[in-house]
Amino acid sequence: MNINRCPGCLAPGNNTYCKKCIKKLFNGKKVSHILTFDRPEFGASISGIQIKHSLKLENNNLILTEKKGEYILKPVPSGQFENLGQLPANEHLTMQIAAQVYKINTAANALIFFSDNQVAYITKRFDLLSDGIKLLQEDFAQISQRSEETHGKNYKYDFSYEEIAGLIKKYVNAYPVEIESYFRIVLFNYLFSNGDAHLKNFSLYRNQSYGDYTLTPFYDLLNTTLHVPGEKDMALELFKDGFETEQFRLASKYTKPDFIEFAERIGINKVRLNKIYNKMLDNSPEVENLVSQSFLLDSLKSQYLNNYHLRLDRLNS
Ligand SMILES: [Zn+2]
Repeated sequence: MNINRCPGCLAPGNNTYCKKCIKKLFNGKKVSHILTFDRPEFGASISGIQIKHSLKLENNNLILTEKKGEYILKPVPSGQFENLGQLPANEHLTMQIAAQVYKINTAANALIFFSDNQVAYITKRFDLLSDGIKLLQEDFAQISQRSEETHGKNYKYDFSYEEIAGLIKKYVNAYPVEIESYFRIVLFNYLFSNGDAHLKNFSLYRNQSYGDYTLTPFYDLLNTTLHVPGEKDMALELFKDGFETEQFRLASKYTKPDFIEFAERIGINKVRLNKIYNKMLDNSPEVENLVSQSFLLDSLKSQYLNNYHLRLDRLNS
């Protein structure tokens, strides 16, 4: 299989993981991008609807494990959504754009292939320290004390991004810094049509050295409209009190005034907002380059870029 680019960072001229990715993902161990086994029929399922497998590194090989998993492997899911065979490539591309173009703190990730060439998405767990100690991590469903039992089936979605910001303010001492990261990821999710950024896709963990809570790296970023056409633009409402800008009332779509109002409500001043906002909207050539280098099928590459340009237009208006 000739892949012509690094299945980690998508850099051209590689036929397996490049040196940087080997270091970042596998602590310098030369792990092959082809696993030694086929897709498991039944595996160590971690959580969620999508089947996930737990892997650990043994010598230079990734092997399935029940305990002490260091990596999470997400094969192509089965179900009724569209283009599911492309989901690993979509998640990988979106995570790489976030990290490389927007410098968003994301979980280390790559594509990897089963021995029968089937593609999967692999991500390194960020809640484990090198000595095996597990950091205390809580997602915002836990932090807001919402579960299916207490708030019904829709508990992950009956909330607003403004309310999550309120919880960040409550628990994170470095709020002024962290709230900017949070604003950028909310904007990123909108720009890249990630309509499933619900409560469980944001987490805090406790920094061992300071005892303080910080946002964990971001994870599960993907363009959901490739799989669920006509999905809602965002998983949660921006505002907690049903507030709507005049522009939103007219078009039922979030545009620049909504994000200005949102930034103000969560405590980002105008100078910082302008800087962050303009930077987020100014990366087209780099985005286009990564999309073209990605493992998506050509038809989905153009769909991916179309979606991006549509959202870019909205955010510029
Ligand atoms: Zn690489």
